[in-house]
Amino acid sequence: MRQLLAIRYLNRPDIEDIIERAAAHRERIKERKPVPQRSHLSVGLLFFEDSTRTRVSFEQAAAYLGHRTVSFTTVGSSLRKGETLRDTVLTLRDEGLDAIVVRHPSSGACNLAAREFGGPCVNAGDGSHEHPTQALGDALTIQDRKGTIEGLTVAIVGDVVHSRVARSNAWLLSKMGAAVRLCGPSSLMPSQMTKLPGTHCYDVREAVHGADVVMCLRLQKERMADGLAGSVRDYANNFQVNRRLLARHAPEAIVMHPGPLNRGVEIDDATADGPSSAIGDQVRNSVFVRMAVLDWCFGEVTA
Ligand code: ASP
Repeated sequence: MRQLLAIRYLNRPDIEDIIERAAAHRERIKERKPVPQRSHLSVGLLFFEDSTRTRVSFEQAAAYLGHRTVSFTTVGSSLRKGETLRDTVLTLRDEGLDAIVVRHPSSGACNLAAREFGGPCVNAGDGSHEHPTQALGDALTIQDRKGTIEGLTVAIVGDVVHSRVARSNAWLLSKMGAAVRLCGPSSLMPSQMTKLPGTHCYDVREAVHGADVVMCLRLQKERMADGLAGSVRDYANNFQVNRRLLARHAPEAIVMHPGPLNRGVEIDDATADGPSSAIGDQVRNSVFVRMAVLDWCFGEVTA
């Protein structure tokens, strides 16, 4: 059994293994071939923070694999009565869940949940820390569209400091041999002390110039204790990824966004819905990658 808590601690062979498994699941589902079933294993989906794409794609992934799932959200649980995350996880373990998938607003909460649970556990996004399954799905999408990740230049633009997607992608892409450029207003950039791989850049034209992939990030208003320094309009004027910017500086680039999109802020409609957009592929691939991650965590258990 394994736990997937962060890309930072994953090695390249494991990343390649998960991407390969995801592509194999995609092929099986496309060809309507049988998917190996794990109906004897139950998976708890613990979402302590809002989610659309991640929650539904984990449900869909688990359904394809035949898992029984138990959905757990803060609303309607004993967390409202003051129960701690630790006690909640211990309860679910003692009730016999075989694996847990955890989303939480606090960075590091999944590590605690995984330690207490002791079995297969997947981080579905914890605070500003990591979102490993998002980065793995993005990697499959980039590989499909560009043939490889090695040697590519990827610009990650927006609210880098609060983004777990930026963190997981920066680690994954650099482990896979891509050059990462991180770009945003100085108030939304991580300090160099964080040692996040990638060069820092404060001019979006420079960041996307000649890039193969441009990844947009949402402004994480819910994680900005002091609000946004400057206005949303200033942000859009200076950092929006739009048709004009791409035509001039990165005409060959594919454009990605983890969603939810703030159209007209970090990305314009023409780009989000245009031919260079890989956003739909990111969503489709996220299901196959989450199947692969569940497989990878459970190991070679058979019914
Ligand atoms: N859906 C992604 C996440 O959960 C990105 C975002 O919310 O901006 O981190």
